[in-house]
Amino acid sequence: MEDKERTEKLRFCRLCDIFKDIPLDIDKDAERLYNLLDDKEKAGDELINERLKICSACDRNSQGTCLACGCYCIIRSLKRSARCPKKKWQ
Ligand code: SF4
Repeated sequence: MEDKERTEKLRFCRLCDIFKDIPLDIDKDAERLYNLLDDKEKAGDELINERLKICSACDRNSQGTCLACGCYCIIRSLKRSARCPKKKWQ
């Protein structure tokens, strides 16, 4: 993929604009969000770790943010029914 084409397809998290002056602790927020999910919606440690391992080697991962969907990789990995926008995991 050409650099220009790739750049035009990148998406960035909108929370940065909204919360730019508020310190985020994404691991703590992920844990809080996870605890709010119904048990049947929770992906479970094994699946989450598998997904994050794939994300960690992905060229769309920019410091924990997925540039294909604009979400934090860890947040996206939490829900069992979530899918990678590039179909690298499900
Ligand atoms: S969700 Fe998919 S596209 Fe995004 S960083 Fe992870 S593996 Fe890459």
